[in-house]
Amino acid sequence: MGLSETEALVLRTYNLAEADKIVVCLTHGNGLVRGVARGSRRLRNRFGAALEPFTQLYITYYQKENHDLVSFRQVELIRSHFHLLSDAETLTGLSYMADLVIEFSPPYHPNARLFRMMKACLEAIATSPPDLQTILRYFEVWLLKLEGFLPDTKRCCECQARASENDTAFLGSDLLLRCRSCSGGEGNGFIPGASGETPGNTEVWPLCLCGRIPTGCEQDPP
Ligand SMILES: [Zn+2]
Repeated sequence: MGLSETEALVLRTYNLAEADKIVVCLTHGNGLVRGVARGSRRLRNRFGAALEPFTQLYITYYQKENHDLVSFRQVELIRSHFHLLSDAETLTGLSYMADLVIEFSPPYHPNARLFRMMKACLEAIATSPPDLQTILRYFEVWLLKLEGFLPDTKRCCECQARASENDTAFLGSDLLLRCRSCSGGEGNGFIPGASGETPGNTEVWPLCLCGRIPTGCEQDPP
């Protein structure tokens, strides 16, 4: 609550009344933030042209208690990706990334790794637009992983025992991994550590795009 200052990526904007905009952004410090930028559609305004989709900026905003929408006070442009928006396929891809983040990220829930990953993907698309589809697949996988939607394939979801290479673990129809004792032997059995036997296996994930995502990605997202 109160005044916050953080780095942000603009995901989407909507017109509001005559001169205002609602801006949805992913922030480094506070996760998904929605707010009103008063006067931002006037010709002369304190935000300039910074509040456009996929712009990277520093924002200062004020949040009142029990109010979902914050009020944007100041912005400082770090990087614009305006030139990408003229290509229809790139624009569709970027809008899809924004949709996924809005859908999967709870508001005001900081996730610094997600923020860095999205920033790196935007940079990668800006550097090499032909790699758009590959980068989108990378983005999908890491978004699911960072928001906790991919199952943990290293531990039993019931007793938290670490999966062992010497014993079979069982993947249930709920896509959760259980040890032999917790599963009662129900589900698809596999030996953890034998590569490629499950889509959640660490040998298979993450989709490695080393060299394409600029800030490195071996076992962790950038
Ligand atoms: Zn167990």
